Amino acid sequence: MKRIGILTSGGDAAGMNAAIRAVVRTAIYHGIEVEGILRGYAGLIYGEIRELNVSSVGDIIHRGGTILLTARSTEFMEPDGFNQAVKMLKRRNIDGLVVIGGDGSLRGASKLHGQGIRVVGIPATIDNDIPCTDYAIGFDTAVNTVIDAINKLRDTATSHERIFLVEVMGRDSGQIALNAGIAGGAESILIPEFEPNFDEVSERILRGRDRGKLHSIIIVAEGVGGAMEVSREIKLRTGLDTRVTILGHIQRGGTPTAFDRMLASRMGAKAVELLLEGKSNQMVGMKNNTIIECDIDWALAQSKEIDEEVYRLANILAI
Ligand code: ATP
Repeated sequence: MKRIGILTSGGDAAGMNAAIRAVVRTAIYHGIEVEGILRGYAGLIYGEIRELNVSSVGDIIHRGGTILLTARSTEFMEPDGFNQAVKMLKRRNIDGLVVIGGDGSLRGASKLHGQGIRVVGIPATIDNDIPCTDYAIGFDTAVNTVIDAINKLRDTATSHERIFLVEVMGRDSGQIALNAGIAGGAESILIPEFEPNFDEVSERILRGRDRGKLHSIIIVAEGVGGAMEVSREIKLRTGLDTRVTILGHIQRGGTPTAFDRMLASRMGAKAVELLLEGKSNQMVGMKNNTIIECDIDWALAQSKEIDEEVYRLANILAI
């Protein structure tokens, strides 16, 4: 193996840069050249490729986003675009490819493997919905961003004795909502994995009021149907005034936490080692603080369930 390529794809996640840095430096350490592919699979199709050296990844470990830029490419999912991408890798003598992104990006990597390209995936998505790893890069930073927002909203919620609904990202996954909700001390957490019970949420708010509680923070994952809708349901049942805050894209950016930087550094190095061992169609993951590898197709055929014990804990603590 002489030359590898690296790209970031799908939604950006804090820590992608730390992963790029780890891949580039580990590869160079082993005497391998690295080609940086811009704009994910879109840039691969059009040959937007430039060589990366040790200093091209200097001063990026603390930055959110991705220096390689990212994109969603429908063209790559069509036969013409896909074939062009395969040809580009061969023309540029790229012997192995590291794909950093979410489940869609990993599916794309698996398709390239089907055409004889050696690929390794690194899970990076704030949704943390990828099986075979306890954590995807970017999740911890996103949770901390949400907690920061909850802390601030709590001050105003207490001062005005109001109910605040905070909508967080997670169309199909309640991971951000559940973790930020528990760590932020929310009264109720609504996630797409469980049917929302508005009566219960409202009763809890009223019970809190009876005990003299000044505020209520309710976290709503976007997949539940939107915080505005939930707000209407609660107003209807409690007669109390509510406020809605939709955090949106603020959850993606920001300087990565120490956890995400460590995770990205370890995963990036492991990805290069797997390519050096001649492996392909593998994704790296972390289980019980150990860096592991899984077959991409096997991993994506699993589903990442919410930890019911943790969900139960959220309800106990918000009694
Ligand atoms: P996030 O979790 O942040 O949304 P993602 O990687 O899941 O990230 P997607 O938009 O699903 O984001 O996928 C990124 C890109 O990967 C797509 O634009 C497309 O180019 C490619 N891709 C996704 N699914 C497939 C597939 N089934 N086959 C081939 N390529 C795919």
